[in-house]
Amino acid sequence: MISKDMERLGSNRSAIREIFEYSKMRAGQIGADNVFDFSIGNPSVKTPDSVTETMINLLKNEDPVKLHGYTSAQGDFSVRQAMAKALESDTGFPADADLIYMTCGAAASLTITLGAILNEGDEVVVPAPYFPEYKVFVESSGGVFVPVKCKEKTFALDFESLNKAITAKTKAVIINSPNNPTGAVITEEEMIKLSAMLKSSQEKFGTEIYLISDEPYRKLIYSGSVPEAACYYDRTVICYSFSKSLSLPGDRIGYICVSHKMDNAKNVYYAVCGAGRALGFVCAPSLLQFTVANCAGDTADLSVYRKNRELLYNSLIEMGYEAVYPDGAFYLFLKALEDDANAFCEKAKKYELLLVPSIGFGVEGYVRIAYCTSTEMIERSLSAFKKLIDSYKR
Ligand code: PLP
Repeated sequence: MISKDMERLGSNRSAIREIFEYSKMRAGQIGADNVFDFSIGNPSVKTPDSVTETMINLLKNEDPVKLHGYTSAQGDFSVRQAMAKALESDTGFPADADLIYMTCGAAASLTITLGAILNEGDEVVVPAPYFPEYKVFVESSGGVFVPVKCKEKTFALDFESLNKAITAKTKAVIINSPNNPTGAVITEEEMIKLSAMLKSSQEKFGTEIYLISDEPYRKLIYSGSVPEAACYYDRTVICYSFSKSLSLPGDRIGYICVSHKMDNAKNVYYAVCGAGRALGFVCAPSLLQFTVANCAGDTADLSVYRKNRELLYNSLIEMGYEAVYPDGAFYLFLKALEDDANAFCEKAKKYELLLVPSIGFGVEGYVRIAYCTSTEMIERSLSAFKKLIDSYKR
């Protein structure tokens, strides 16, 4: 008999992908211009020219045997040095290239890290709302997924609830700032509080608690800065991806950085290498490794997302919707106009608005709008949003 768990996972697409597929089907029926697809976090802004130019240059001038050959399992050393340098210049965290592992994006960074850290039955605490795949990644690594609701309305971390959820069985906490789906950013004050809470929990239970910081949106911030978890808590593992910052989600490139500040950093890194090996995630694509080594400091034109945020947020609030004002990432978390967010999304579909209900993100009564679309599509969608809210007033 095959694995029933895997069969179930593969046959039930995520809600996001389900809506994304519906959007393509609907576009075939009524034309792409008539469908307002806000389902998936696929950047609409093009990859920066520096990425394209670097790739062309590498393909033309680099020795093809090297360029297309295997690198070390954990990634080429010069690439890892470039990642360490870029991480330090982005965040101030002095990363060690010997503790960096190149991956196929944040999903691989997370599955490898969880595989490295978890033993069967270990608990992983995750503030909700969360990226839905966390549950899949934790459970398929043998862990127990422990969601903890954030504060109502602001979706800031709820320290009282977090503290209650952390027990002797807690092996890790996953944070994601800026957050998918709310756009909320963990402030420096909150980071200090979180670090103190984790340190005192480690002491109280005599355990090790890892902070897994999932950072694909680290560079997508519209004011202020994003405090780097590793600067505050020593037992941090950073999971990074270039999918969003360089608009490269289909090319699959990112990295893991184990903080050198934890007492067992080398052992954790060996476990990361072991999990990468066991999962078959060795040697991230060489062309992409050498490309990001040259472009890690660049970003796609993020000003488009800022413009989209202002346009969408202001327009929807003016119409009477309620939403969390996002400080980062490219998602708007909108209050559904009825308790059942699934029913609300079905009504939105009548106006060709494709939104994702919040239940998969671990909370009820909201929808996620991915505004990494063209500004022009948002402009065209506004009359549909207006008709939708008016339909509830009738
Ligand atoms: N983590 C979060 C919070 C995400 O939103 C995503 C993708 O949207 C991922 C991880 C996976 O990123 P990647 O495409 O780099 O694997």
